Amino acid sequence: MDLYFDNAATTRISENALAAYAYASINYPANPSSVHKAGLEAKRKLEEERARIASLMGTRPESLFFTSGATESIATVLSSLLLTTHGKVIISSIEHEAVSSWLPALREHGWKAAVLRARNGFVSPEDLRAELTPDTKAVAVMSVNNVTGAIQPIPELVRTVREYEKEGKRHILFFSDSVQALGKVDFPLEGSGVDAASFSGHKINGPRGIGMLYLRQPQSFRPLAPAGGQERGKRGGTENLPAISALRAAVEEWLPDAEANRKRIGRIREKCINALRSMGLRILSPEASSPYIISFASPLPSEVFTRMLSDRGVMASSGSACSNNARGEGERILLGMGIKPQDAARAVRISFSKDTSEEAADELIRIMEETVNGR
Ligand code: PLP
Repeated sequence: MDLYFDNAATTRISENALAAYAYASINYPANPSSVHKAGLEAKRKLEEERARIASLMGTRPESLFFTSGATESIATVLSSLLLTTHGKVIISSIEHEAVSSWLPALREHGWKAAVLRARNGFVSPEDLRAELTPDTKAVAVMSVNNVTGAIQPIPELVRTVREYEKEGKRHILFFSDSVQALGKVDFPLEGSGVDAASFSGHKINGPRGIGMLYLRQPQSFRPLAPAGGQERGKRGGTENLPAISALRAAVEEWLPDAEANRKRIGRIREKCINALRSMGLRILSPEASSPYIISFASPLPSEVFTRMLSDRGVMASSGSACSNNARGEGERILLGMGIKPQDAARAVRISFSKDTSEEAADELIRIMEETVNGR
């Protein structure tokens, strides 16, 4: 049985995504920038894929740009800030390293950076309002935290910023890293009012190395690498059409049934949470979390417990394994939201996919019980 419970780190590519990858590789081999017939066909296919993804995400194709992953999408937004202006940026304390690692560079280039705490796991509109100043140029708060699953109140946070703007101040860029939100929580991209958002293919059974950047008003952004002017000048470099086709197939598998999957996975999550509690373990994920993620405090240091689970066939994560399974990141986020240091050091994350079965969850619970009881 597949006991892979590390889907927030990455997911297995789906058969449809793999088939779409192969189909585009074989049937659209040309460079979409080439002016011959095969190039024009590749370009048409590329735009068809963009339009289909945009329609499923409820946005306009003109707002979606393909990148090599969320890390690059984030780098595009933050480097554009760095290159075009300076002032104050407000970043939440629970951002993924793909965002937070930009803080030193921003500061080095004269930006003032405020780090917003996330009490009990959430950034509050009141705390954000208190940080807004006339020189604030950008706010970055992720949609769903990758360690705890906490769903951030993005529409309320955006509203707070827009109300502040009405007091006669300039437009403030609102960026939301939405990697763990796509398909997994109710996240109306256009309705939320964000200016920019990042997405990643490999979190939804697409391939690695493909991501998206949503820009509500792309004009004001500078590319990370202008190169050949691809992606309407926002992302230079030959487009990865096979991966884009595969991403489209993955989005087609996730988005139309997102609500039904959320409910089903939500029930599995509930069952796991109840079982963990009955084993005497503390749940670290707050109530308002993604149905796809549970963080809990294990009885042992995270690495020891995850290795014991792994020996029994269960793949879970100690903290956040998005990068190199570095212990620091998960702990930093948990400590930042007020979790006790002894619990943060024992944090284990289990994360589901839309294909996680009830049987796999039952087996997880059984193995977890054995492991906790030292059998
Ligand atoms: N942001 C979040 C919240 C993530 O969980 C990840 C995971 O890796 C990333 C950004 C980076 O995404 P990518 O691997 O596509 O660069």
